[in-house]
Amino acid sequence: MASSGKARRTVSLLGSTGSIGCSTLDLIGRDPDAYDVVALTARSNIELLVDQAKQFSPQMVAIADPDLYQPLKDALNGSNIMVAAGPSGLVEAAEQNSDWVMAGIVGSAGLWPTLAAARRGATVALANKECLVCAGDLFVREVKESNATLLPVDSEHNAIFQVFDFDRPESIDRIVLTASGGPFRELAYAEMADITPERAVKHPNWAMGAKISVDSATLMNKGLEAIEAYYLFPIEKDQIDIIIHPQSIIHSMVAYRDGSVLAQLGVADMRTPIAYTLAWPERIQTPVERLDLAEVATLQFETPDLSRFPALRLAREALQTGGAAPTILNAANEVAVEGFLQHKVGFLDIPRIVETALERMELAALNCWDDLEQVDRDARALASSLIAQ
Ligand code: NAD
Ligand code: MG
Repeated sequence: MASSGKARRTVSLLGSTGSIGCSTLDLIGRDPDAYDVVALTARSNIELLVDQAKQFSPQMVAIADPDLYQPLKDALNGSNIMVAAGPSGLVEAAEQNSDWVMAGIVGSAGLWPTLAAARRGATVALANKECLVCAGDLFVREVKESNATLLPVDSEHNAIFQVFDFDRPESIDRIVLTASGGPFRELAYAEMADITPERAVKHPNWAMGAKISVDSATLMNKGLEAIEAYYLFPIEKDQIDIIIHPQSIIHSMVAYRDGSVLAQLGVADMRTPIAYTLAWPERIQTPVERLDLAEVATLQFETPDLSRFPALRLAREALQTGGAAPTILNAANEVAVEGFLQHKVGFLDIPRIVETALERMELAALNCWDDLEQVDRDARALASSLIAQ
């Protein structure tokens, strides 16, 4: 029992070394009596994973890179902590019994471990939006069948979750996702050709991992989030609006049929939405800076410019098309962003690669996980070949 008299919460973190993972452990570390950490996972950052394991004493750690199994094992020698590696090791970590799992791996690499947590009926705090974009229908079906609970961590979806009347979905007119507009909100299209990865990863408001920072700069992130929203909330595809709000104070809104608009506000710090999922349905104290609206003084809004940010248009079209389209969009985008981060393609090539993949591939329905894996593989191969050209 924790000192508060409440049972300790057992928690696992998939992607514990990332931006979301570290913010989650920051909250957990502030109230160590309230939580038992069961499993931690990372791709390759052994040093940080070992530090985290020493601080939080999980039952298991898993590293995605199988070559790092032995070094990790050696570093934790004498600790009783089980060590696993490779994709199956991540799934094994997710399968360890815990009440709550942070799905904080980036990209569709997070799909199988997140699914493993959902399949055992855990409460899944979902940061990994790529899961829902690449496998929405199949993923949501499994969550329902397993009686798992899905709590959105993404700040926009967390905001909507906080103000959405799930008992009266018919009273909801639209949801409105806010977007900061990213670092290039005011840049002319012609000037975007020269954008370097170093500039693209510098987000004006949020400190995040490289992939989501690039997605925020292309506005693909907001498109992925529109697809994510469709799978998280009982709404139709055409009930999702997107508005640019450069201050990132209003994290999103729900518009009701009587004309009321309910919003969730706060400073841009992921520890607020993470804390909401960690304590849900309660609320816990966080060290997050308090919102001072007088200091913010001005909240601006504008319509997104789809001609300068074609990635957002492509994602919205993929949502409308359905079937394999979101899977292709996501896979091609992951490969293109990786290519951009490695200086192999330019910033404007990212949406071009995604668009070409969507044009060339068949947009059939995905009826099972095998279909999905095939389409994901094909889209990655096509995007890689486009980069090589
Ligand atoms: P990050 O790059 O900082 O961290 C990613 C984590 O995933 C790391 O722990 C890394 O070791 C692990 N990882 C990466 N590739 C992997 C692989 N192939 N196999 C296994 N593990 C792997 O990313 P982040 O910013 O923390 O984002 C994580 C997820 O949360 C993303 O899906 C992102 O879209 C979403 N998200 C992040 C934020 C944010 O503020 N950072 C906000 C909303 C949503
Ligand atoms: Mg977001």
